[in-house]
Amino acid sequence: MTQAIETDVAIIGAGPIGLFAVFELGLLDLKCHLVDILDRPGGQCTELYPEKPIYDIPGLPLVTGQELVNRLLEQIKPFDPQFHFGEMATSLEKLADGRWKLKTDAGTEITAPVIVVAAGAGSFQPKRPPVPGIEKFENAGDGVGVHYAVRKMETFRGKNILIAGGGDSALDWVINLAPLAKSMTLVHHRDGFRAAQHSVNQMRELEKEGKVKFHVASVKQVHGEPGKLTGVTLAGADKNEWHHEADVFLPFFGLTIKLGPIAEFGINLHENLIPVDTARFESQTPGIFAIGDINSYTGKLKLILSGFHEAALMAQAAFHICKPNEKLRFQYTTSSSNLQKKLGVS
Ligand SMILES: Cc1cc2nc3c(=O)[nH]c(=O)nc-3n(C[C@H](O)[C@H](O)[C@H](O)COP(=O)(O)OP(=O)(O)OC[C@H]3O[C@@H](n4cnc5c(N)ncnc54)[C@H](O)[C@@H]3O)c2cc1C
Repeated sequence: MTQAIETDVAIIGAGPIGLFAVFELGLLDLKCHLVDILDRPGGQCTELYPEKPIYDIPGLPLVTGQELVNRLLEQIKPFDPQFHFGEMATSLEKLADGRWKLKTDAGTEITAPVIVVAAGAGSFQPKRPPVPGIEKFENAGDGVGVHYAVRKMETFRGKNILIAGGGDSALDWVINLAPLAKSMTLVHHRDGFRAAQHSVNQMRELEKEGKVKFHVASVKQVHGEPGKLTGVTLAGADKNEWHHEADVFLPFFGLTIKLGPIAEFGINLHENLIPVDTARFESQTPGIFAIGDINSYTGKLKLILSGFHEAALMAQAAFHICKPNEKLRFQYTTSSSNLQKKLGVS
């Protein structure tokens, strides 16, 4: 069923940057609708590292991915953003009156003068290891079977955990889950890692203390009933094979990142990123802005704090498109009673 909506700004992506854009736009009285294919807000922060600490958010010496998203949600509450979760933004069309119509695969149609693409890395899919029948053990439930992300560490308590991979995710989860696990085993096809050196050192320490077992090996087969993993067959570098008991198998072989339908929107792209100017963060199509990991410009750093700055400047430019006859006055939240009223704090 088609749901037709009119608003000031349609945002593609409810990652940290899409969320903060709601705040900056809200201060300027611009209303937002956000579309995300995921079933919850937070993008990479909640999908890939909800329980990992982030140390470089200004003013927050330590905040986990989930906590940052919770705080952003609290901060934008006064502006009552409307979320369309579990929906893929599939097409964008320019209307005769100059506005845009954004359609989703669930039949939502959002008409707005401004589109903000905050699509991050696009739709990301974990890479499935080449193990026959592994898909039968995926989505088996909390803390059992095969998982490509850790949503809740507690569900893995008391389990025989097998992790495969040699990058940051594999090593980080070995370190974080080892204290909860009944047993923790890491397998990687070589005795060397792509992960940060301090993580490798920590893993080696845990290995020395007997809290982690490490094998140079690959997973060849998975065993058990569909949905209930009991173990795997491992093969060492010398091709020797052995059975290894495991309740849960966490392969971290990286992500396949697909830009998805945004590639077909007619926006100028360079290497799957949207080139923008650094005064407005607008794409080469007027009225379509790109902020966060999805954009590119000289000196771009894919950091959350960069995206926050981009959102602030984008909002100023979006205001002039949405309200061409109104003047924009620069105000501080600290001293403006007008802004404080909008935030519901005065
Ligand atoms: C393990 C890890 C650790 C990190 N640590 C840090 C750190 O310490 N500090 C830091 O600053 N940064 C860190 N980052 C990077 C940071 O997470 C990203 O810079 C940030 O998430 C970018 O936010 P975003 O909103 O631009 O995009 P994302 O977080 O990627 O969100 C984009 C959203 O858009 C949605 N989307 C995409 N295409 C569509 C579509 N067509 N329709 C609907 N929805 C769509 C996606 O589902 C996603 O939810 C880390 C990243 C990872 C993976």
